[in-house]
Amino acid sequence: MRKPFVAGNWKMNKTIAEARELVEKMSAEIKDVATVEKVFCPPFTALATVRDALKNAECGVGAQNMHWEEKGAFTGEVAPNMVKELCEYVILGHSERRAYFGETDATVNKKLHAAQKHALVPIVCVGETLDEYESDRTQEIVSSQTRLGLAGVSADYAAKIVVAYEPVWAIGTGKASTGAAANAVIKDFIRSTIADLYGAETAQAVRVLYGGSVTASNAKEFFTQPDIDGALVGGASLKLDEFVSIIKAF
Ligand code: PEP
Repeated sequence: MRKPFVAGNWKMNKTIAEARELVEKMSAEIKDVATVEKVFCPPFTALATVRDALKNAECGVGAQNMHWEEKGAFTGEVAPNMVKELCEYVILGHSERRAYFGETDATVNKKLHAAQKHALVPIVCVGETLDEYESDRTQEIVSSQTRLGLAGVSADYAAKIVVAYEPVWAIGTGKASTGAAANAVIKDFIRSTIADLYGAETAQAVRVLYGGSVTASNAKEFFTQPDIDGALVGGASLKLDEFVSIIKAF
């Protein structure tokens, strides 16, 4: 049985002081919700603060990105072992990184191998753009991002990863997909690709989230779908009542 999973992606928001204030309040509200895996992904600068503020709330903490190399002349980058010192999760291949920072399926794959080596749990993002959606290319894009992103990863590790289906047209737009449509993409294109690569058992073990304008009012629509294990939440994860309600929607 897959445990429901809700992760908040704060993107480039919150100073250390602001992060502490928000998670201290959230922690009090969600500390007794033991049935849901809860993960906070603040900017690198706030990881230690958020981790410490959440230590009694049984929450995970994750980075929003990392480099695949161990160390070296990569100004501005953060290595996997540096991430591992601070947290256990890492978001890989978010569409904003693909769109603005040149990430490709090949770099996502290198990062995934680095995450495996350092026993980090990756939240691997896949999803089609509006153009691709409108030209009926969702299957092609989502299947190939899944296949190329996971290439060469061991079956044991594949079973532990988290995949987030995030249609780019739904991120930050207020135009969420529907529960049924997101479930179909996850079942037919993501789990079926993982089944091709690793077999049906692994495909069923992998936690697959939906992300894209999830709010307290639409969360239930996604969480009641059989192939959706939870949500990757952007904007709403920065709002105390909203994020607490999403977590409690399970
Ligand atoms: C995201 O950033 O991954 C995301 C899903 O954003 P939002 O919830 O704001 O659409």
